Amino acid sequence: GKGIRLDKMLAHMGYGSRKEIRRLCKEGLVTIDEKVVKDSSLHVDTENQRVKVGLEVVEYREYVYLLLNKPAGVISATEDLRHETVIDLIDEGYRGFDLFPVGRLDIDTEGLLLLTNDGQLAHKLLSPKKHVPKTYYAEIEGIVTEEDKVAFKAGVTLDDGYKTLPADLKILKSDIISEIELTIYEGKFHQVKRMFEVVNKKVVYLRRISMGDLFIDEKLNLGEYRELTPVELALLN
Ligand code: URA
Repeated sequence: GKGIRLDKMLAHMGYGSRKEIRRLCKEGLVTIDEKVVKDSSLHVDTENQRVKVGLEVVEYREYVYLLLNKPAGVISATEDLRHETVIDLIDEGYRGFDLFPVGRLDIDTEGLLLLTNDGQLAHKLLSPKKHVPKTYYAEIEGIVTEEDKVAFKAGVTLDDGYKTLPADLKILKSDIISEIELTIYEGKFHQVKRMFEVVNKKVVYLRRISMGDLFIDEKLNLGEYRELTPVELALLN
């Protein structure tokens, strides 16, 4: 194929800005199939040609998929003027990929957040028509009851008049502070918190534990992330 511009490819792979890459080329550090390439605007066939920067072979890939255990206190957006964002948690080597979070978690919500630059997969997971299940673990101020379970299964009417789709509530502990798991098949703004408001209870802790076939990795501490395995990726597609 006609390929991709060398500077674009190397910027994508985290080798710096186009300007910095022009410089690397001028200095003779970049080769295509072992031949020094001084012009960074040249096109490269990423499937059939081998690009090196210094001694390092550049393994080109278009998409990256990261599973993040989001901590509280960071915003699930790419930019924010006042707060740290989930992108700030990611190593600089990934900067060229233009990652974004697939959907939103509130600033005080923890847990599973997928970061990718694959717009098609993001759309599939977020499309309201697909009803991708999302499961949350929550601690609730107030005694969560079987009636709440029935109400959530029937759908509840939120403060803005929207009636939620049937949701599955599992009560892990019914006490002054209750522990539950709630699976919803849509993603309205502050949905879990607002559903509990309808039954006069308050979410005091919220963590997402799954999204579709993707589950939180217990080995990841808050703020840590890893790439999806090929199996996880296959299950999402
Ligand atoms: N529901 C909420 O209320 N908050 C979240 O962050 C996710 C789901």
